[in-house]
Amino acid sequence: MRILIKGAGVAGLTTALELTRRGLAVTVFDTAPRIGRGASWFAGGMLAPWCERESAEQAVLDLGQSALDWWEEATPGLVSRSGTLVVAPARDRAELARFASRTSGYRLVDEEEIAGLEPDLAGRFRHGLFFEGEGHLDPRPALAALHRCLVENGVVFHLGDKSIDDGGFDRIVDCTGHAQVGSLSGLRGVRGEMLYLATDEVSLSRPVRLLHPRIPLYIVPREPGRFMVGATMIETEEAG
Ligand SMILES: Cc1cc2nc3c(=O)[nH]c(=O)nc-3n(C[C@H](O)[C@H](O)[C@H](O)COP(=O)(O)OP(=O)(O)OC[C@H]3O[C@@H](n4cnc5c(N)ncnc54)[C@H](O)[C@@H]3O)c2cc1C
Repeated sequence: MRILIKGAGVAGLTTALELTRRGLAVTVFDTAPRIGRGASWFAGGMLAPWCERESAEQAVLDLGQSALDWWEEATPGLVSRSGTLVVAPARDRAELARFASRTSGYRLVDEEEIAGLEPDLAGRFRHGLFFEGEGHLDPRPALAALHRCLVENGVVFHLGDKSIDDGGFDRIVDCTGHAQVGSLSGLRGVRGEMLYLATDEVSLSRPVRLLHPRIPLYIVPREPGRFMVGATMIETEEAG
């Protein structure tokens, strides 16, 4: 059976790998000239199903737990399983209680334990939640690793063309993500915003989520001295 996957972001590449493993002949097509330049290029790469359960349905937790193993196996050496630390300033302690009431898979940590986990946060937070089972990766090298693996396994890539003749394929899998907002019912656009920080003054071993009633944010460590900071989640139909 010949499969055409449209979209070479994380959804397209992971689908391609799963279908290839099942012995199907897969072609991936993307209008962009390089893989993974859509939302996947800007993602935090947090593999955080327990934290996500704060606002997501149970399926995200159930499937997300096996996704941690999936990524570790598919992108050897790229997943860090050092957990997630969730903190809030003392004045926002109610936020921590609210987050805890909506999630599971954490233990309460005090100031001393926070300092043990993240020495550079010593003395800054009195209470936190530690989600030990979570992990993270840098999406850019992870997507590149998936791409290499797919090419080695015979997947054909068509990148950078406006369209592809899909006549010869038995099935088409649409992984074009945001491009379908407005034409697929039930699909809504949510935009995240991020920035990269470079500093040698701080080091972190794991994603840290800072709770706040209006502007919660998270920091994901990349290579030494580099941090991805993400904040907003905006409901919008625009790609931005
Ligand atoms: C700032 C930010 C932080 C995030 N942090 C996390 C996180 O920590 N953890 C997490 O799990 N998720 C996170 N996400 C969400 C995650 O990035 C997205 O859910 C995911 O990348 C979506 O992948 P996708 O493959 O569906 O879409 P995309 O990566 O957008 O891929 C869609 C692809 O389709 C292509 N395309 C468009 N139109 C066509 C067409 N007509 N034909 C062919 N190809 C087409 C595009 O060029 C693109 O390559 C974050 C997102 C953002 C923006």
